[in-house]
Amino acid sequence: MTRQITDELREQNERFSAAIENMSHGLCMFDADERMIICNSNYVSIFHLDDEIVRPGIVFFDILQHSVDIGVASQGAADLYAIRKPYIDRAQASTYEEILSDGRIVSITHRPLASGGWVSIYEDITEQRRAEQELKEQHRRFDAALANMSQGLLMYSSESRLIVRNQRFLDLCKAKAADFPLGTTHRQMLEKLVRLGIFVPIDIDVEVAKTKATLEAGQARSSHRELVDGRTLFVSRRPLAGGGWVATFEDVTERRRAEERMSHLAHYDTLTDLPNRSMFRERLDQALGETPDTPLAIFSLDLDRFKAVNDTWGHPAGDWLLKCVAERLRHGLRSETDVVARLGGDEFAILQFNPKGAADAEKLAKRIVSVVSQPFRDKGRDMHVGISLGIALYPGDGKDADTLLKNADTALYSGKSEGRNVYRFFEPGMDAMVRERRTLETDLETALKRQQFALDFQPITNIASGEIAGAEALMRWNSPTRGLVAPDDFIAAAEDSGLIVPLGEWALKEACSVAAGWPPGMRIAVNVSAVQIRSVDFARSVISALAVSGVPASRLELEITETVLMDESDMVLKTLRQLRDLGIRIALDDFGIGYSSLSYLRRFPVDKIKIDRSFIHDIDNKDTAAIVRTIIGLGAELGITVTAEGVETEAQLEILRKAGCVEAQGFLIGMPSKAADMARLLKTRAASRRA
Ligand code: C2E
Ligand code: MG
Ligand code: MG
Repeated sequence: MTRQITDELREQNERFSAAIENMSHGLCMFDADERMIICNSNYVSIFHLDDEIVRPGIVFFDILQHSVDIGVASQGAADLYAIRKPYIDRAQASTYEEILSDGRIVSITHRPLASGGWVSIYEDITEQRRAEQELKEQHRRFDAALANMSQGLLMYSSESRLIVRNQRFLDLCKAKAADFPLGTTHRQMLEKLVRLGIFVPIDIDVEVAKTKATLEAGQARSSHRELVDGRTLFVSRRPLAGGGWVATFEDVTERRRAEERMSHLAHYDTLTDLPNRSMFRERLDQALGETPDTPLAIFSLDLDRFKAVNDTWGHPAGDWLLKCVAERLRHGLRSETDVVARLGGDEFAILQFNPKGAADAEKLAKRIVSVVSQPFRDKGRDMHVGISLGIALYPGDGKDADTLLKNADTALYSGKSEGRNVYRFFEPGMDAMVRERRTLETDLETALKRQQFALDFQPITNIASGEIAGAEALMRWNSPTRGLVAPDDFIAAAEDSGLIVPLGEWALKEACSVAAGWPPGMRIAVNVSAVQIRSVDFARSVISALAVSGVPASRLELEITETVLMDESDMVLKTLRQLRDLGIRIALDDFGIGYSSLSYLRRFPVDKIKIDRSFIHDIDNKDTAAIVRTIIGLGAELGITVTAEGVETEAQLEILRKAGCVEAQGFLIGMPSKAADMARLLKTRAASRRA
């Protein structure tokens, strides 16, 4: 019986020991006298105790002393005892933590036993604490990151509820934390943002559905959100691994504005704020592509005499004028849809939508010519420019933008060669003409570089005395491909390309240097074109030609045409007056053709009138003879020398002599001839006069 009981007890003890041994915690049991009853090996190992010393029967204090001896405890045994004792004595289980000398943290739980002793459970919680600490640190960092983000951030749970929201989001929305409490659903968020007047109203159903769909597909979604106060937020949403998503908000107002400015710069001309070439092209392509059945008129525009404005008044004035022209063009359009663009320099273009035939386009062209030809007044200065237009009609003159633009240009160019302030519709055949003209212009440039120009000289005689008064220099072009080209065939082209300026300058120098070798008193007449006179350096080039050659100013005669005096800018008249004051004579060439010229004689007192050769040719006609006599009479009245051009017969000369004409020029008097021949002629005449 006793044996049986003993066996059972032993078995029970063994099971108890096994259970204790297999605990993951350290365990130690003490009796009422603070003697250890039992402990497990976890306990021994947590404290690195010597199991030879720490055995059942050892008193609690001795264990503490032992742990101090082996250097595990961080305090003295008495202190340790004083700390632990109050916990041990409690009626309930109590837990506290102790830090060992090696830094480990041990959680100790004391539980009183009914028999008066107690049980202590020990657990090394160093790792757990470290992990907790780390997590805490992570949270701290996350919070810091959230708070310091330049972007607003919202995080939603898989149930679409708000779980994280940073301060920046509230700042961006100028909202309070209370407006958007955690737990709010995505839909409620959007509703609130609209209701509070933060977001510009949006279709919330669509918005919620879109976000849901893209995020469920595992994709990110971004969009721009317009705010009521005019700002723009860029919102980007990304799905999270465990469900839900994170949305970031960025204020892109400035960037957006910069982008808009950039795009404006790319599409608009900075000076005039008109659409630029690329924008014009875009609109034209768009019109052709989207409404191919709508007729269009494409206008190519170019200012007349703009270069003269720039040269005379300077670039700031030129810029000002371009702005004014742009403004007038803009107002000149009658339809909202029509487009006017600045293509560059003084070139503009207009796209007219749905004109009712050519008549409609013509109406617009006339209006443009008329608005631009009004003078531009700035700071007391009157600037005069004109505008020329070339017009191509869609679909008649081309099906694609390139052809239409090219044909409008061709029409413009061909119009320009015929005069200023004109508009021209494109016609087939213009192309070849314009191409020819372009080749001529480039050929002329080469000709100037290669010195293919020469001057012939034609004598001018005094009818009464029969003596030679001087000679007119006439330009010739010895082209290796075209042969000898007459000035009527190239002067206009040289004027258009501006080449007349260096070419005319050369003629002046050459003529003066030739005339320097002539007998004293012989005049040299040089033709100068209007374009040349308008160039800034004209007066200086005349003076320098005289200075270099040594020819006195009184021997130089500049032949100008009416168009020079028609120039309304005072600049040209001022230049001429300045030259005339130096003693240079001004002759009005080709008098009688073109405009009725008497009013121009009042604007500028010329020294000489040259009656155009067409009048002399027709002088047999009674009416023509009357006109010639009138001009001669007028000259005598005003004290202006009159020269008759193109005198070919004795009969013509006789009529002129009778009418009292002062000078004559023509094949009868002498053909235009080489400088050397002219010099010889003048010398023999001078010698015979002396004899
Ligand atoms: P223009 O100044 O009226 O010159 C007179 C033109 O009449 C010259 O033609 C001359 O050869 C021609 N001519 C002279 N006598 C007679 C005649 O009896 N009968 C006929 N039928 N014609 C006669 P050209 O040399 O062909 O010059 C034509 C025009 O070219 C000139 O007319 C002038 O306006 C211009 N030109 C000539 N040289 C220059 C120049 O150096 N600079 C500029 N800007 N223009 C020039
Ligand atoms: Mg002449
Ligand atoms: Mg003439």
